[in-house]
Amino acid sequence: MYPACLLLYAFPRRFPVPSNLDDEEARQNLHRNLYIEGLVPLPEKALIHRLRARAATSHKAAIRGGVGIGDDCAVVPIPRGHQALITTDFSLENVHFKRAWHPAESVGHRCLTRGLSDIAAMGGEPLALFLSLALPRDLPQSWVDGFFRGLLKLAGKFKVSLAGGDTAQSPGGVLADIVVLGSVPKGKAVLRSGARPGDRIYVTGELGASAAAIDLLSRGKKIRPRDFLGHFHPMPRIEVGRLLREKGLASAMIDISDGLSTDLGHICEESGAGAEIEIDAIPVARKADLRFALHGGEDYELLFTAAGGKKVPSRIAGVEVRQIGVVTRGWKVWIRDKDGLKQELKPQGWEHFRK
Ligand SMILES: [Mg+2]
Repeated sequence: MYPACLLLYAFPRRFPVPSNLDDEEARQNLHRNLYIEGLVPLPEKALIHRLRARAATSHKAAIRGGVGIGDDCAVVPIPRGHQALITTDFSLENVHFKRAWHPAESVGHRCLTRGLSDIAAMGGEPLALFLSLALPRDLPQSWVDGFFRGLLKLAGKFKVSLAGGDTAQSPGGVLADIVVLGSVPKGKAVLRSGARPGDRIYVTGELGASAAAIDLLSRGKKIRPRDFLGHFHPMPRIEVGRLLREKGLASAMIDISDGLSTDLGHICEESGAGAEIEIDAIPVARKADLRFALHGGEDYELLFTAAGGKKVPSRIAGVEVRQIGVVTRGWKVWIRDKDGLKQELKPQGWEHFRK
């Protein structure tokens, strides 16, 4: 949990730190000397304060009644009558992002979106964040600052605070693991396994923009982040997920992180059911095509099912909701075109940065 001795590695500067300093005292002495010589702008304690202060401004009530950064563990109260939701997701350089393609703020934002989106998919609300971060020694401080700016800005939007984590020096590339702790009223989490034949299948927002951005970037095209917000700044659908759970509308739910074909396959598998979707009903993002909308990952929209008798609004919390198909018997997923021709839809999740 951010022990002071590790912050030297959490905030590396462009100065020569021998990598074979295994002795903790030697490390701290070296850091002190570098600081006295004016090579390091901030001593460790100041760095902790800085991160603490930033983490606190992201959520004024920082862990109500609990303890955040600065102790061996965070102490987080779970609201009465609730169950804890816990999810963990990697964001790895050259797997989930590239420094040449993604501004640091976007990497921080997307890192947290991965975790928050899982909480949304259960109909829960986030309580606290934990981040384990390994950084290469030559990473500029400005990149680290940008990463935290992006992550904490999104955290502030959902009034959730960074409550702890760990830091280390990475042997290669930025490695971030976000853990989000959330909660949901007891027994009310929306699972993947609740879909029944006859239920309708719905999706929020638009699909495919994220894969379209990766496709252009991997072909050497320059794109502007603001034209691909769904890729660079995807918004976790916490509010939509919560409302669907509160109103008892969703029988099963998942977030689209691996692609519609793969994630719908997960719901069918867990529910012991099949599905049939309509090509024309798929909400394809403006700069994407059907292939990206069906198989592209990282859209972080919600895919859910609702019993036939439930009236699902076409817009929830400002986000468009579209019916794209129905749950069927069997275990296969079918896609039907406008002429009524059916084809099996096999899961083909997007592979990151496929050449
Ligand atoms: Mg998920």
